Amino acid sequence: MAKTLWCWRCQMELPMLDEDEWAVLMEAHFAAMHPTARNLARGLEVLEREGARRGLPPVRRPSGEVAGIRRLLWHMSAGYELFTGVADEHPNAVWHHRAALYGPPCPACGKPFRTPQSRQCAACGTPGPSCGEE
Ligand SMILES: [Zn+2]
Ligand SMILES: [Zn+2]
Repeated sequence: MAKTLWCWRCQMELPMLDEDEWAVLMEAHFAAMHPTARNLARGLEVLEREGARRGLPPVRRPSGEVAGIRRLLWHMSAGYELFTGVADEHPNAVWHHRAALYGPPCPACGKPFRTPQSRQCAACGTPGPSCGEE
């Protein structure tokens, strides 16, 4: 299940995908971005299959106004929506909304350490998971 964490780049709390969910997005991504046959429908099929297996709502299709990178990478936004309910997230942001990229919550302020290797909390300076390691 996606869990809500503070995102340092977006400067707000957002659901972050877990590794199981992330694996589905990556499978969809590689299906859609196949080097010899780019095909968004194939990516959405992956999402649909996994969504149905988990009892999630149907995968949303892009409207006519969706263009450019948003359309090209629609499977990223649609997959993020499938697991989190948050619609229209920019695909570039979905790439870093993955819980495993972040460290545990800071014991002092509760914001996640920026990475699992952080030496200190970026918000309050409390020593982090890798403090003292060389
Ligand atoms: Zn973000
Ligand atoms: Zn802190």
